[in-house]
Amino acid sequence: SVPATTLHELIQAGADAAPALSSPGGVPLTFQALRALTERTVADLNARGIGRGDRVAIVLPNGPEMAAAFIAVAAGTTSAPLNPSYKADEFEFYMSDLGAKLLLVAEGSETPAVAVAEKLGVSVARLRPTPDEGAGSFTLHFASESTGPTEKSGPAGSDDIALVLHTSGTTSRPKIVPLTQANVCASARNIRTALAFGPEDRGLNIMPLFHIHGLIAGILAPLSVGGQVSCTPGFNALKFFGWMDEVNPTWYTGVPTMHQAILGRAARNKEIIARNPLRFIRSSSSSLPPQVMKELEETFGAPVIEAYGMTEAAHQMASNPLPPKPHYAGSVGLAAGPEIAVVDLDGEPLPAGETGEIVIRGDNVMKGYENNEKANAEAFTKQGWFRTGDQGVLSPEGYLSITGRLKEIINRGGEKISPREVDEILMDHPAVSQCVTFAVPHDKLGEDVAAAIVLREGVEAVEKDIRSFASERLAAFKVPAKILILDEIPKGATGKLQRIGLAQKLGLV
Ligand code: ATP
Ligand code: MG
Repeated sequence: SVPATTLHELIQAGADAAPALSSPGGVPLTFQALRALTERTVADLNARGIGRGDRVAIVLPNGPEMAAAFIAVAAGTTSAPLNPSYKADEFEFYMSDLGAKLLLVAEGSETPAVAVAEKLGVSVARLRPTPDEGAGSFTLHFASESTGPTEKSGPAGSDDIALVLHTSGTTSRPKIVPLTQANVCASARNIRTALAFGPEDRGLNIMPLFHIHGLIAGILAPLSVGGQVSCTPGFNALKFFGWMDEVNPTWYTGVPTMHQAILGRAARNKEIIARNPLRFIRSSSSSLPPQVMKELEETFGAPVIEAYGMTEAAHQMASNPLPPKPHYAGSVGLAAGPEIAVVDLDGEPLPAGETGEIVIRGDNVMKGYENNEKANAEAFTKQGWFRTGDQGVLSPEGYLSITGRLKEIINRGGEKISPREVDEILMDHPAVSQCVTFAVPHDKLGEDVAAAIVLREGVEAVEKDIRSFASERLAAFKVPAKILILDEIPKGATGKLQRIGLAQKLGLV
């Protein structure tokens, strides 16, 4: 059949009575009910003057309503999910930056987003869950008078913007990424192909739904082939195994810090793991330490598939393949959708084995950032490829390894140091569980190397041991001048460990 290029088409994949969305323990929402909910929502929005191209800021907690609202709103207008834990100033920045026309919040929610919407003159709709009709089902209630119907009504076309998100802001101020219906559908298709999803797959979504990873890999990819997803209220390592036992999932996707937290509870939950076998575990959004991959595979007896994603690519760029093809620790796998090349500073392709910037080209990649000519001027090579800002190397077999982020390179008196290389060495120390190497200002060198680490539970080590371990394995200039042993390393909203800004967060600047 012809691949879907709109969300309206994508949700036609499941059989009428087949479950689409659910929540652990809840009544599933069938594909037929999801399609009806989507049509009703688009009609409700259209009747209120909100149509194709109009932006709806969605501020909802994680869960099936958030997943259903994302799809139903995006099918006829543009979904703009925002992190519900933002404070008023952040809501004001994001809602004005993306030009929201409507704010969608949960009935009874006291989010500061509502007062911000009133201040900005954005109308507000409240979502009332109707779980008896299936998990995620809802009705919409508008606070203000209707401005009358819109001409831009009905399902969106493939070039309409389905989703606007800001990048995570790991390396600079977050940028607005507009993704078309065709972009998100292509990415969902690329993921489901890499992971061989079928209607019998059951996902357990723990990823936040205001970020591309959860929206596309967690929700759309399995639905696009008629599979189902159980949506949790958000990641919680203490509840994970209970959900697992309730849902009996065939897979889940997460970021490395989540996998580590899950491993921390695994020994107490051996029976649940044994009676709920997984087909695979997926990891993406930041690098998975090989030690964590090995421990996950041993614990769950399932392959761990690391993938490479970014907001601008509607998530997936590369993915390790499933067995019997090999997957490797420390590699993000093969191009899985877009074309991938590694280029030099002039944008010319480099041969396998040489390190350069990773660039991509494909139907999942955005055309450009919104309202950001400066970023767009830098974002594409003259050959038309999108620059990821990541550094990597391809093997002769086409497996990609990420060696770092260009903006994170530490410049120690002219010596360029890849913080990732230092992380990898420190992670080899038997006492180290998490590690982030980062730059600290130095009055003579400009920047010097520091590292924040978290020790494994029940293991003791002091800074001196870890420094001498590093000194035996790294050139002296790369050995962190300072190693901080912490209980926890500050994470971004999506669970990513962040290097840039860490020196400030830890009070070293
Ligand atoms: P900003 O662009 O605002 O600085 P960000 O790049 O962190 O933020 P995202 O789009 O959420 O925002 O993340 C994409 C980035 O995450 C990639 O460019 C890459 O650096 C990193 N990443 C994703 N998957 C992996 C992976 N498997 N291994 C290593 N890094 C990864
Ligand atoms: Mg980025």
